[in-house]
Amino acid sequence: MTASYDVAIVGGGPAGSTCARTLVAGGAKVVVIDRSTFPRVKLCAGWLSAGIWDVLELAPRDYPRALWEWRHCHVHYRGKSYRVPGKGWFIRRFELDDFLLQRAGAELRLGAHVKQLTRDGDGWAIELPDGSTVHAGVLVGAGGTNCPVARLAAPPRPRRALGVQEIEVEVDPGAIERTRLGRDGEPELLLFDHAAGYGWNVPKHGWLNVGCGTLDATAVHDAWKLTHDHLRSSGHLPQEIEPELEHLKGHSYFLYDPTHLEGAARDHALLVGDSLGLAHPITGEGILPATISGRVAAEAILAGAPNDYPVRLARHEVIADYRRVHRVMAAARRLRRPSPESSRSSRLGRYAVARGFAWMFSGSKLPLPGLVDRALDLMPGKS
Ligand SMILES: Cc1cc2nc3c(=O)[nH]c(=O)nc-3n(C[C@H](O)[C@H](O)[C@H](O)COP(=O)(O)OP(=O)(O)OC[C@H]3O[C@@H](n4cnc5c(N)ncnc54)[C@H](O)[C@@H]3O)c2cc1C
Repeated sequence: MTASYDVAIVGGGPAGSTCARTLVAGGAKVVVIDRSTFPRVKLCAGWLSAGIWDVLELAPRDYPRALWEWRHCHVHYRGKSYRVPGKGWFIRRFELDDFLLQRAGAELRLGAHVKQLTRDGDGWAIELPDGSTVHAGVLVGAGGTNCPVARLAAPPRPRRALGVQEIEVEVDPGAIERTRLGRDGEPELLLFDHAAGYGWNVPKHGWLNVGCGTLDATAVHDAWKLTHDHLRSSGHLPQEIEPELEHLKGHSYFLYDPTHLEGAARDHALLVGDSLGLAHPITGEGILPATISGRVAAEAILAGAPNDYPVRLARHEVIADYRRVHRVMAAARRLRRPSPESSRSSRLGRYAVARGFAWMFSGSKLPLPGLVDRALDLMPGKS
């Protein structure tokens, strides 16, 4: 059996469902194919920053599943603890993704693992495990880090993927209340001394989400040990969760790099979300850029200009900010003094790092972007 669509989207996570919703609203015939049936588990702390609501065209009060708003986070850094003001939300990821996919309004082919993709005239043919074939004028790869469309398009990967380990478990709400550091939904974040990653502990009423991520994926086991030791010794984990912590699961995904965008569109195949590698260069926030890229890709397709997608995406204010952050980090690496330890170890330095991280965790953009760009342009060896 063969079915034809304007657009076929491989992957029904936030990138794929947001892309689908925009396309359907614009009158396109769309199918979303996902190897899982929804709701499905996706490793994720479930943290959202403020920008997401505009992209989803949804007010927080209208989100029909569980939602925790936080106004403070608890940051531990180099032996000190800080309660820092900030703003954001937590969701349970299996609920968010199911909600977004259902409301997209596209035709769904769930439980269908895509392996075979072939060029078919001007479009694409996708063979599904049930023997049927999907034809589409445009193919969108939204299948995450190991997306089959990304394997075909092979976007440049100048840096390795980061490593992450995590678990979300149901625990007696009373036990969580007795052990959590702040209010329900307030994240506890442990910045590693070398600041190349962090661990987290997020109480969500009857659920606890704990995990860690590191830039160097080979260091993720040690990072979890640090996180676990810290949470256990500070009494912030209910005893009964300990056996579950033997079963943390690992994953990896790519942080934003400007060169990733070079592989964003090719032969009427577009990559969105983790399949392209768009997560925030420092915090690893990935849901927001996934939804933004899904929407921008859909708008380029609806405008009849899919090849314009990379340029449109680079121009988006959030992605432009990621580029700026990426450049600032590269400049900081070049300018690093021989002994950065002393400044990070001073009281003020530690507080600045904790506060700065909480600020980014709230989804704040770099101030005075024009000035930052000009300063970066003037630097020797600029990127
Ligand atoms: C442990 C961990 C914690 C994280 N915490 C946060 C957080 O708190 N906040 C945040 O913003 N980001 C977080 N992230 C990053 C975030 O989860 C991702 O950036 C985001 O999920 C990207 O969305 P996506 O739609 O691109 O991909 P995904 O959400 O991964 O969706 C991809 C979909 O494609 C499907 N698929 C894959 N291959 C195939 C195939 N061959 N055929 C058919 N279907 C396929 C999968 O089943 C899946 O449903 C975290 C990541 C990890 C690993």
